[in-house]
Amino acid sequence: MTEHTLTVAGVAVDTRHWIGGRRVASAETFTDVSPIDGSVIGEISRGTALEAAAAVAAAKAAFPAWAATSRAERARILHAVADGVEKRIEELSIVETTDNGALLRSHRRGVMPRVAHNFRFFADWLLKLEHEDFETRGHTNHVSWDPAGPSVLITPWNAPLMLATWKVAPALAAGNTVVLKPAEWSPLTASLLADIAAEAGLPAGVLNVVQGYGSEIGDALTSHPDVRRISFTGSVPTARRIAESAAGNLTPLSLELGGKSPLLVFADADLDLAVDLAVEQYDNAGQVCLAATRFLVEESVAEEFTRRFVEKAATLAQGDPRHETTDIGPNIHPRQLEKIDAFVQRALAAGARAVIGGHRKDTQYYAPTLLTDVAQDSEIVQEEVFGPVLTLQTFSTEEEAVRLANDTRFGLAATLATADAERAERVTAQLVAGTVWVNCFFVRDLQAPFGGSRHSGVGREGGTWSFDFYCDVKNTVTAPNGWKNHG
Ligand code: NAD
Repeated sequence: MTEHTLTVAGVAVDTRHWIGGRRVASAETFTDVSPIDGSVIGEISRGTALEAAAAVAAAKAAFPAWAATSRAERARILHAVADGVEKRIEELSIVETTDNGALLRSHRRGVMPRVAHNFRFFADWLLKLEHEDFETRGHTNHVSWDPAGPSVLITPWNAPLMLATWKVAPALAAGNTVVLKPAEWSPLTASLLADIAAEAGLPAGVLNVVQGYGSEIGDALTSHPDVRRISFTGSVPTARRIAESAAGNLTPLSLELGGKSPLLVFADADLDLAVDLAVEQYDNAGQVCLAATRFLVEESVAEEFTRRFVEKAATLAQGDPRHETTDIGPNIHPRQLEKIDAFVQRALAAGARAVIGGHRKDTQYYAPTLLTDVAQDSEIVQEEVFGPVLTLQTFSTEEEAVRLANDTRFGLAATLATADAERAERVTAQLVAGTVWVNCFFVRDLQAPFGGSRHSGVGREGGTWSFDFYCDVKNTVTAPNGWKNHG
């Protein structure tokens, strides 16, 4: 324990950066606050351009050896990281819940096992990554994936370690070295990941973690000429700034951004299933990029759907996310709560009606809200709220449903409830979305392409798509008689 260690529910967390295999403190700190009750967790190193440069330098220095490490050895170390995560699921879960307010039971049973799986999946995928050779007029084409270099990974607070490791694991598997910048509202589990990776034998400098405000440290990372890849998950305005900052070096970007995804409920749907899917949209207090926040319901079943939705939503327990029976926890920060409430109050002033909710509960919690009587071009239908706020509109034809579904600047996901397979196929083909779920929600396989269209993102990650992004993909063409002529 040092003066730079804080303790969360008995778990020691180092509050400094992790650079080149060493803990490094900044002169300044920022205060980390728990969304559960607004209490201060502790002071965290507040990175500057200095630490950003040091982290990129460490990643650059470690790159040649890590890139030259065999696929088998890289995979072995990634599995060792997964083992370390599995050993510390309980600790990671309580720290994450304290830091970002998401449900402890979800962290224990779903999220942290998934974090371990991120490492196992990309370790295994690396071992089978190949493209069949092919011939061109007798010449052989051979495709290979070369490690690209130091990669900057910038992540948000709504699922901190899950989203960080969904980038860290493939970047490391690809043979890249990493500088991870977690969100300033949830910095803690990234620090624990650094400990776990070091214990697992990941060489110094291969994974670096810098803490701090994106507005202060971001540019120094994203404009750095030694950075070969930037993968960002977060909001559209930040993505724009990162794209501008990366433009000087034409650094390739992967951007996973916001959404305003629809849930389309057709009259032929199993309404109980549709309501189950609808109520799920309050998960993580609505702070889910993929959330289907716009219900589009066929007119003939809208009343019945709403009745059952209200009934089901009333059974959700809101409160302390550490309690086993809680369904909806707090929102991340009082500032976020203000933002959510401002959206809702503007919508109500513009004529929307709150079927349920429509107000905050206190400084940390927002009442689960469903708004109707909302115009398609209104702010509440067009902009991402990122809180437990849903809207309901009706449609009378399939054509109208598709038109409304596609009529925002986003295109992250769409969910359909229908009993008609042909309709599902027809509608899906017309939807602008990176992921479409039919009669289900949030089923995510790591080998599937993941990303958004329009303002929901640029590029796809997942399975081979991740390696395509993190690597320099090379095609080698060998002449049939090359060895005789030049050997
Ligand atoms: P944000 O854009 O405010 O911050 C995200 C990260 O960017 C943080 O680490 C922040 O410090 C950093 N950052 C801020 N300014 C920066 C700059 N100038 N340069 C570099 N980095 C900078 O987003 P947020 O509020 O943390 O997250 C919520 C958003 O993330 C929502 O829009 C949500 O939809 C989106 N999101 C998308 C996905 C997805 O996979 N598509 C997943 C989760 C969240």
